[in-house]
Amino acid sequence: MPAHELEILIPADRIRARVAELGAQISADYKDKPVLLVGVLTGSFVFLSDLVRHMSCPLRVQFIGTKSYEGTSTTGQVQLTKDLDSVVEGVHVLIVEDIIDTGLTLSYLKKLIQQRKPASLKVVAFLDKPSRRKVEIEGDYVGFKIEDKFVVGYGLDYNQLYRNLPDLRVVKQ
Ligand code: 5GP
Repeated sequence: MPAHELEILIPADRIRARVAELGAQISADYKDKPVLLVGVLTGSFVFLSDLVRHMSCPLRVQFIGTKSYEGTSTTGQVQLTKDLDSVVEGVHVLIVEDIIDTGLTLSYLKKLIQQRKPASLKVVAFLDKPSRRKVEIEGDYVGFKIEDKFVVGYGLDYNQLYRNLPDLRVVKQ
């Protein structure tokens, strides 16, 4: 297995502080509206698990799975690999993404869930790479905007590696 050269982009303490802020902001916005957090597998799992511990409003968690990446490049085709476990009609849904890159995944998921008539549908993304967009779409809550660099750590992988890193790092190509 080739070793990759990794450079820290966002240290763990900055991530912790920002996730706490997001959790407080989202809790204030939802207050007593029970919300269903829909984590997008697999990259959102670390962000989601930290975020919920900073949320005080009533919430439930489910996961949905999509696939579009091979290595460090997107195939441009989004496929559903795991659907939700319950009906979301009338439910306040908050999609939890690791990163919005081209926006294709989010656009696909928003359409899919919107068709099921949720009470509301919003998005929280740990990261946003606005320069890479192929479709016009934004997160309602965003942790950090970053440049067009392939990043790993805090749940994000490179061929399934590095999800366990506590900080965010750039893979030097
Ligand atoms: P999009 O559909 O917006 O192009 O991409 C969404 C998915 O691509 C993300 O949920 C993430 O899994 C993957 N992705 C996009 N950019 C990066 C990146 O810089 N690093 C990693 N590890 N995954 C990325």
